[in-house]
Amino acid sequence: MKKWKIKALYYGKINVPKGVMSAGLDPDLMIDIPYTGFLLRNGEETVLVDAGIHQDHIVDGRAWGGYKAIGGQQFVLDALAEEGLKPEDIDTVMYTHLHNDHTGAMELFPEAKTYFQRDEYVNLLFQMPGQKVREDFDPRTPGDVEKLQNIYMFDGDLTLPNGIELYKIPGHTLGSMAIVVPTEEGRFIITGDLPHMNVCLFPLQTEMQLLDGSFVEITPAPPNMRPYLFNSVVYDHWAAFDSYNKLKAIADEFDPKYYLTGHDPWVIVKKWFG
Ligand SMILES: [Zn+2]
Repeated sequence: MKKWKIKALYYGKINVPKGVMSAGLDPDLMIDIPYTGFLLRNGEETVLVDAGIHQDHIVDGRAWGGYKAIGGQQFVLDALAEEGLKPEDIDTVMYTHLHNDHTGAMELFPEAKTYFQRDEYVNLLFQMPGQKVREDFDPRTPGDVEKLQNIYMFDGDLTLPNGIELYKIPGHTLGSMAIVVPTEEGRFIITGDLPHMNVCLFPLQTEMQLLDGSFVEITPAPPNMRPYLFNSVVYDHWAAFDSYNKLKAIADEFDPKYYLTGHDPWVIVKKWFG
C-alpha cells in the first residue's frame, strides 16, 4: 500500500490563555494558537482534514470566547494554493468534528467524498446548552452539510482501503474523530480537539513551542491532575477520559511526536510529517 505524506496547514490563529486548554495551568500566559488543517497525499488521492473557520464567524476581529483571531476561507485557499491545489483537486475531506473552526470552508468542497461521524451530525443538530452559549458550532454548517453530495457518515471505527484509520473519540463533542495516517515515519494520529495541545496528553512537559518557533516555559501538571489535562470544552468528561485512553492505545508508541493535536503551534512549525 502507498504510504502517505502529511502537511499541516495554517488557517489563521486565535489568541487565548494557555490555561483554557490545559485545565487551568498557566492562566495568565496568552498564546497564539493556530486554526489547523492537514493535507494528506499518497500520489493517488488527495485528502483534506478540516476546513478552518468562516470569515463571518470572526466579528470585529474576535472569534470563540471573544478572543482576537484571524482566519477565513481565503486562508484555506492560500494553504491549498501553496501546494498547487484548488478546492476541486481535493478528492476527500475528513472532519475531526464539526465545530465552527473546522468547517469554515466546507461549502468549497461540495463534491468531495466527505467523512464524519454520525453522532457529530447529531450534535450539530441537537446542541447542549453550553455548546450553544459558546457558539461552538457555526449556524451555517447544517446548510453546508445539506449541500454535500458525497457523504460517508458512519458510527465508530473504520479502516479505509487507502490505509487511513478513523476512530470515534467522543468527549470534546459527541462524535469527535481521530484520523490515523500511515507514513514512512510511522503512524501519525490527527486527534482533533479532545487534546487541543500535546501537553493535554503529556502533562509533564515543561515547555511548549510557539508559532514563531520559540519556546516558552509551562507548568507541569501536579500528580492529582494527571494523567491527562482536559481543556475547557468538554461536553462529557467520562467519554473524554475513555477517548484519551483510546488515543493512547491506538498508537504504536505513546510519544508526543506522533500526536498532531488540534491547535498546538508545534504542528504548524514542523509542518511536514512522514
Ligand atoms: Zn478547534
